[in-house]
Amino acid sequence: MPDYEAVIGLETHIQLNTLTKIFCPCKADSWNDPPNTNICPVCTGLPGVLPVLNKAVVEKAVLLAAAMHAEIQPVSYFDRKNYFYPDLPKGYQISQYDQPLARGGYLDVPMPDGYTRRVNITKLHIEEDAGKTKNENGRRLIDFNRCGVPLVEMVTAPDLRSADEAAQYLIRLRQLLRWLGVSEADMEKAHLRCDANVSIRPRGVDYLNPKTEIKNVNSIVAVRQAIQTEIERQVRQVEAGKRVEAWTLEWDEDTGVLRKMRSKETEADYRYFHEPDLLPLVIGEDWKAEILANLPELPLERRKHFVQRYNLPEYDADILTSERSLSDYFEAAVQAYGGDPKRVSNWLMNDVLRMINESGVPAGSLKLSPAYLVEIIKMVDAGTINTNTGKSLLDKVEKTGRHPAEIVQADGLARVSDTDAIRAVCAEVLAENPEPVATYKAGKVTLMGWFVGQVMKKSRGKADPQVVKAILEELLA
Ligand SMILES: [Zn+2]
Repeated sequence: MPDYEAVIGLETHIQLNTLTKIFCPCKADSWNDPPNTNICPVCTGLPGVLPVLNKAVVEKAVLLAAAMHAEIQPVSYFDRKNYFYPDLPKGYQISQYDQPLARGGYLDVPMPDGYTRRVNITKLHIEEDAGKTKNENGRRLIDFNRCGVPLVEMVTAPDLRSADEAAQYLIRLRQLLRWLGVSEADMEKAHLRCDANVSIRPRGVDYLNPKTEIKNVNSIVAVRQAIQTEIERQVRQVEAGKRVEAWTLEWDEDTGVLRKMRSKETEADYRYFHEPDLLPLVIGEDWKAEILANLPELPLERRKHFVQRYNLPEYDADILTSERSLSDYFEAAVQAYGGDPKRVSNWLMNDVLRMINESGVPAGSLKLSPAYLVEIIKMVDAGTINTNTGKSLLDKVEKTGRHPAEIVQADGLARVSDTDAIRAVCAEVLAENPEPVATYKAGKVTLMGWFVGQVMKKSRGKADPQVVKAILEELLA
């Protein structure tokens, strides 16, 4: 589409990972629980009850707002957003409207091609979730477990220019939410929900055309596909001389089709007013400072520091900062090692990451601690063990939690550099394999690798492969 550019804004709902709901002591996360088991008179809207604000919700939302570079408001208000829906037993949702928790903010999103897109935030507020409805065998079933689960709603300006950019925004947002520890940010479990506003315009102009809204897309891949499909539909519409109408669309993941849902409500339909049962939310300087004391170095800052401080390639820095506990692990290991950080990075990225991915255990919970990893690298550096032994040690330490040096001692893994011992093993291997020896001598020198492998196997990986090869060459000459 050379003549058009896409204009995309994303509306996200982020489920905060507090233990209890926003206004009552019910358990917040009901993912594994049967319907209507985590409910009480407050979250089911029975008469005569009063909401009590959960402090942890405010703290997590403030951390997120600060990480988004938003301005935290000293006073904000809760409002009632009135609408009628079966899964909203109160007949209104407690949200924030014109005086929200924070204003402004942005997220810088590095794109795979190297440029960075700054995505501004136009809205960031706290609210409660509604329940869930589902249709089953012609009946409508309602689950109130989700009523009162704490959310942050965050809306971006129309700053994104392609489906890929929208996907990258969500990837970086998810990384940030997990990094801060404010949300599990699992889209499949609806901890992170996304609606996309999409319009197109001729390239080079700065006005906005009518947009459509794509609802309820539940994976990053699906967001990308749905937006791309919608951009292409709008281009076809405009090329055919038709108008794009402000529809609300629903993505059907199985068929890859967008379906029209309904015309969109306007804000006035919600008849907002301040929630009379809750006090204004006051965040004093002391409380704010206390919360922000827990704000960690953010992923993109840390990525930059890894490049500058440790002279790492951007590729390494990006992977090592993909997750906070991995980046903490790396820093701890580099400090314990004292040598070239790139060497630690190689061990982490090639071997330790594989263990993490296979086991699902986060870096910070590995039995193979940074200190143990460094001990193994140092033994390889010193020539006490060879690289292969070092790599197999990683798994042994992880399985047993034992000290690497202890395992080397107990299992006799120290490298055999005694050439007489190696020579004896080489001679044994050649004697046991007369046919390959004859083939080798007839000119098939590529068999050398196989011979080396046999000797390594017999020496249980302890022999130095360079020495083995030299001796074999000598014996076969
Ligand atoms: Zn409740």
